[in-house]
Amino acid sequence: MEKKQSIIDQFKGQARLPRLAAPRRYDLHLKLDLVACSFTGVVRVGLAVAEATKFLVLNALELAIGDVCFADSADQKKVRPCDVVMDDEDEILVLAFDEALGCGEGVLTVEFSGMLNAHLKGLYKCAYVDGGEKKYMAATQFEAVDARRCFPCWDEPALKAAFQITLDVPLELTALSNMPILKEKLNGDIKTVYFEESPMMSTYLVAVVVGSFDSVEETTADGIRVRVYCPPGKSDNGKFALHVAVKALELYTRYFSVPYPLPKLDMVAVPEFAGGAMENYGLIIYRENDMLHDELQSTAAKKQRITVVAMHEVAHQWFGNLVTMEWWTHLWLNEGFATWVSYMATDNLFPEWKVWTQFLQYTASGLHMDSLEKSHPIEVEIIHARAVLEIFDAISYEKGSAVIQMLQSYLGDAIFQKSLSSYMKRYAWKNAKTEDLWSVLTEESGVEVTNLMETWTKQKGYPLISVNLNGHILAFEQSQFLLSGLAGEGLWIVPITLCLGSYERQKKFLLKTRCGEIDISDLFNSPSDCLGLSEENDPEKFKEHFWIKINIYQSGFYRVKYEDKLATQLIKAIESNYVSAPDKFGILDDTHALCQAGKQSLSSLLTLMGVYRKDIDYTVVSNLIEVCYNIVKVYYDAFPDSVDYLRQYFINILRPSAERLGWESVSGEPHLNVLLRGEISMALASFGDEKTHEDAIRRFKSLLMDRNTPLLSADTKRAAYIAVMRKTTVASRNYFESLLSIYREADTVQEKERILRHLAASPDPDIVMEVLNFLASDEVRDQDIIYGFRGISLEGREAAWKWLKDHWDFILNKYGTGLLFTNFLTDIIALFSSNEKADEVEAFFANRTTLAFAMNLKQSIEQVRIKARWVQNIKQEESLPELIKQLAIKG
Ligand SMILES: [Zn+2]
Repeated sequence: MEKKQSIIDQFKGQARLPRLAAPRRYDLHLKLDLVACSFTGVVRVGLAVAEATKFLVLNALELAIGDVCFADSADQKKVRPCDVVMDDEDEILVLAFDEALGCGEGVLTVEFSGMLNAHLKGLYKCAYVDGGEKKYMAATQFEAVDARRCFPCWDEPALKAAFQITLDVPLELTALSNMPILKEKLNGDIKTVYFEESPMMSTYLVAVVVGSFDSVEETTADGIRVRVYCPPGKSDNGKFALHVAVKALELYTRYFSVPYPLPKLDMVAVPEFAGGAMENYGLIIYRENDMLHDELQSTAAKKQRITVVAMHEVAHQWFGNLVTMEWWTHLWLNEGFATWVSYMATDNLFPEWKVWTQFLQYTASGLHMDSLEKSHPIEVEIIHARAVLEIFDAISYEKGSAVIQMLQSYLGDAIFQKSLSSYMKRYAWKNAKTEDLWSVLTEESGVEVTNLMETWTKQKGYPLISVNLNGHILAFEQSQFLLSGLAGEGLWIVPITLCLGSYERQKKFLLKTRCGEIDISDLFNSPSDCLGLSEENDPEKFKEHFWIKINIYQSGFYRVKYEDKLATQLIKAIESNYVSAPDKFGILDDTHALCQAGKQSLSSLLTLMGVYRKDIDYTVVSNLIEVCYNIVKVYYDAFPDSVDYLRQYFINILRPSAERLGWESVSGEPHLNVLLRGEISMALASFGDEKTHEDAIRRFKSLLMDRNTPLLSADTKRAAYIAVMRKTTVASRNYFESLLSIYREADTVQEKERILRHLAASPDPDIVMEVLNFLASDEVRDQDIIYGFRGISLEGREAAWKWLKDHWDFILNKYGTGLLFTNFLTDIIALFSSNEKADEVEAFFANRTTLAFAMNLKQSIEQVRIKARWVQNIKQEESLPELIKQLAIKG
């Protein structure tokens, strides 16, 4: 025993495996038993032993290890280890040999077995119902570090190898893996499926799915066979995703000037999946809700989501799979780029969706997360593999893609595209670090990209740029923006863009120091613009109309605070509709953040919001709605007695758009109108608008009579479900029961998702408690429980917190440390806005925190404290309730 411990000790506590040997090729044979939910396997790993060593150290977790043997390729001598030790904490398998293995090639053979787990990671089981009978299929989710749960391996992205996979599965099932099937052999009711050997790839991209599916397929112009696998009888629902995937392959092949690297691409929707989708090489696995599309039952919003998700996953086949991050520190290279590229591709396929404007919602959520003290840099040190999951967050995805957008717009499309293509060719089949990409961009563009970008990726946070105009001199000052209201220490190289009076009069420069100035006389004196105005021609009129917008189209990852005069001029420009949609979005979002940080009053924010009431742009209005929701959450705690007036004011602001759009879709209307109708009707239902509630309930009754009623489209159903739940109490639960029946009989995952999202919206805490128990019951698939958390009412938050505490052990057991786990915390804690509650949450988790969610928990608690401060600030604006009452009555 003592000896074993000392063997393990020398390899413990290290972020990465010792480089004693490197895998070149895995020959992996898995035998699946879907009745016993277990598997056995043999892996033969072709190894290059780097130096003479008595140890081999690799990763394994929750596997039983059988026979182990090492064969030296030079002399074919076989040796067995004297000790085989697993360490659960560091997730390593140490093989100790009596005599040192020589430097050179060899083959390590390991027999092992394990259980198909219920935690949606590693090789796991997914339950589904077939002819009334509950059965299991098997699927994999290896990213970030769960390949080691399926077979012993060197489970790090930089240790790429070729994979030859063989599966023993029940005869009647479909078996899929990264590569095409080479051959099949039958043996009674079992078939052995041999897949072709893969090119060099990382372990986290290996994938296997075994189940029962129907499929549709197409071939691209380049001869790549693309197949989409759907639940039996639902292959029609895969046609839209198939169309998108084929377009994506053609588009990326052109954009990167590198062909799709594998002979086929499969996409499969499985009944249980933790994330939205996973980009496994040649075999993308989806949650059903994010791949299956039904022309009648799916909303416009879902169609867009399915497109963006597919574009993202296919982009990874290049960005991530062909060129892979060297270590998890560079995860953002995968995620930031796939996200950015997915918008580029979606914009190309559906230009009328204007997704680049919608992309600002992404930027905004990155800005929000990164204004927390407990944020982290884009490039973050990973000291234990288990902590990787936490950085699949708004910093890696949203901030990552936003700083790429900033760089791309600074360098220009053509140079950026050419650089990406060079990068892709140079690092194909290999790994790259962030600095490798910067080097290529620097070479191609002649701009010092490394210096510029390291200020954005190596430090957390971002700047607030304060702007003053003195004569024709614009003065800038940068300071780190934090929602806590404190100023951080950071300093950035900021690409500043600005325009004066029109988008034709622009200037750009890099602000490299804390303060800077720029003379903009030339913009003032430029001969004319779209208004025909210049200061020389008509100084008075010019003075009245001129406006200055910094960060044109919001392409930079920073916020702007204007001096009062500039701010007032800008508001006039918004009213006159001179300002673009992205800029309107940015002005509101920045003001909202400044208000949260205590740098601006709530009354000034509310006045600004009134200016947006005539706006019709989808992204601008949905941001306006988001701001409304956030204000209600804190105002509810500041002045509970007048929160209904506040809601009424928001109803007044949104009413003109709601009336313009109506409830029913118009054939051939723009996609963005459909999206906006959905958002506005939900907001009005949430704010308790009587007229909306009456309409909603009438239409809901019609749905009860006829599931295909023309009175309630898929796009407005959610508003009706909110209205139903806002009217539900223990004493009045008829419509709630009806909604549950619709859930139980629903044939599409999307309808189920829609209902789950709003079940907890009731103002009655007892109903909220009942709903949470329902979410955790067998009636809701494990993966779907999270949908219910987002919609918990403010009135139900204490009940939800109690439920979370009472069910903590259940949650921990069932969801362990997976992707879904953090939703339990973040969504429920986010409902609070007092320091007392923050203390209570901290106390509860004091001895319950694990590495897997420590950072997310701290971020959640910090957000509660930020809101608590905001509540205090609002309380000090004593005239607010009266102002809000006036705004509400004014209509
Ligand atoms: Zn991704």
